[in-house]
Amino acid sequence: MRKKHAEVWERCLKVIKDNIPFQSYKTWFEPIEPVNLEDDVLTIQVPSQFFYEWLEEHYIGLLKKTIKKELGSSGRLEYSVIMDSAYSDARPYSVNYPTTDKKATKNNPVSMPIDLSKGNARDILNPFIIPGLKKIKVESQLVETYSFENFIEGDCNRLARSAGWAIAENPGKTAFNPLLIYSAVGLGKTHLAHAIGLQVKNNFPDKTVLYVKTDQFINQYIDSVRNNNQNDFIHFYQMIDVLIMDDIQFVAGKEKTQDVFFHIFNHLHQNNRQIILTSDKPPVELKGMEPRLLSRFKWGLAADLQVPDLETRIAILQNKLYKDGIEMPYEVIEYLAYSISTNIREMEGALISILAQSTLNKKAITLELAKQMIDKFVKNSTREISIDYIQKVVCDYFSLPLEAINSKTRKREIVQARQLAMFFSKKHTKNSLATIGLHCGNKDHATVLHACRTVNNLVETDKRFRVYVEEIDKKLKL
Ligand code: ADP
Ligand code: MG
Repeated sequence: MRKKHAEVWERCLKVIKDNIPFQSYKTWFEPIEPVNLEDDVLTIQVPSQFFYEWLEEHYIGLLKKTIKKELGSSGRLEYSVIMDSAYSDARPYSVNYPTTDKKATKNNPVSMPIDLSKGNARDILNPFIIPGLKKIKVESQLVETYSFENFIEGDCNRLARSAGWAIAENPGKTAFNPLLIYSAVGLGKTHLAHAIGLQVKNNFPDKTVLYVKTDQFINQYIDSVRNNNQNDFIHFYQMIDVLIMDDIQFVAGKEKTQDVFFHIFNHLHQNNRQIILTSDKPPVELKGMEPRLLSRFKWGLAADLQVPDLETRIAILQNKLYKDGIEMPYEVIEYLAYSISTNIREMEGALISILAQSTLNKKAITLELAKQMIDKFVKNSTREISIDYIQKVVCDYFSLPLEAINSKTRKREIVQARQLAMFFSKKHTKNSLATIGLHCGNKDHATVLHACRTVNNLVETDKRFRVYVEEIDKKLKL
C-alpha cells in the first residue's frame, strides 16, 4: 500500500511539473524524497542545505500554493536537509515554515561554524551534477608561463605566495579558503593565481581547476539567462575543485551575478573545494557588493601584493631575460628597475620596447638606448617619479654611491644629497613626509620638512647650489 505522504507529494509534483520548465523540474524536484505526513505537515527530504535555499528562493510561491491546494490552509511543509559534508553531526536537519505565513521564515539556515580541523568531507549525494557531466574535461584556461617558478619571491609578495603554495599542496583543506589576492594593477595577482592553479594540476592531476576572468563569468551568466539554461551554468561551476576568479571587483553592482556566485561559492565551500579570488582593492573597500558575499570573502585569507623593492624588480627582469635567453648589460637592467617602480607590467613593457628597438635598428642595447626608450615609455604612461629613482639621479649627479643616502654619515656632501633627495621626493611624488623620511635614511617627517626648507633657502642664497637643483630637476624630468 502506498504511503499517504508519497501520494500527497505525487499530486503536488503533478501541479509543479505543469508550472515550471522540465529541466528545472528534473533538477530541483526529482531528487526530493517525501518522508512523512503528520498533522497536515508534509516532510520532504532534500539533498543539501543549498538545495533547500534554492527551493526557498525560487519555488517558495509555487510550493506554498501547491501544499495549500493539497492539504488545505493548515497545510505545512517541512524540509529535512541532508547535511553537507563535515559541518555538523546532527542530521537530518529540519527546517520548517508554515505555508500559511505571508513570508516564510528561514529558520536560521546553516550558518554553522566551520571547523577546518574536520577535513574528512563525506562524499554526499550531489543533486547538481547531472550524471555524465562530471566526465567532461574542463579546460583549465591556465597560462603555462605564469608558474611559481617564474614568480619571483620578495617581501612584497611573501604572504600571498606562501599561502598560494600551501593551497596548492592541499586545495580546499587549508584555512585559506577563499584566498583573496589584492593589489593595484600590474603587481602579479593574475600571475600568482595562475601559478596556484598550475601547481594544483601538478600535484593533483585529477582535480578540476578552472581559471575564469570575472567579466567572462558575468557574460556566461547573462547568456545562460538568455538561453534559459542557468542550471547548466550553475552545475558546471559546482563541479569545479579549484575555482579561480580573477578581478572579482567587476561584479560590483551586479546583483544577479552576485546572487548566483553566492550560491556557487557556498556549494564549493561547503564541499571543501578551493576558491581563489583576485581584486584590485581590499575587501573593505569593495563597493557595490552584497554584504553576505563580502562577508564570505573574509572567511579565508586576504593577502595583498605590494610594490616590489628594487632587488626584486631587478630579479624579475633578470629572470625574464634568462628565460628568453637574452643578455643585457646589468646597468640597463638596473636603470629600468630604477625608473619604473610601481607597476611590473609597465616595467616588462619597457623591457620589450628596448629589445624591439635594438633588434629593429640592429643596435647594441646600451644604457643610452635604454634611456631614450624609457623616456618615451614613461612619458606615454604618465608615470610618477619614485623616491628610488630620485635617489639614484641625485647620487649619480654627485658621483656618490647610492648607499650613501641611507647611511648614518654626517659628511656634508652626503647630508646635502640626502636633503636634495628629500626635497625632490616631496616635489615630485605623492608620498607623505613620513614615508619620504623613512626611505631617505630612516628619518622622521620633521627632518624632511627641515630638508625642504634648507634646500629652498640655499636655492635663493647660493648660486652654485641653484644650478645643482636645476640640473637635477632637468634630469628627473628627462
Ligand atoms: P595584475 O593581475 O596584478 O594586474 P599581473 O599578474 O598581470 O598583474 O602581472 C603583470 C606582469 O608582471 C606579468 O607579466 C607578471 O608575469 C609579472 N609579474 C608580477 N609579479 C611578478 C613576480 N613576483 N615575479 C615575476 N613576474 C611577475
Ligand atoms: Mg590581473
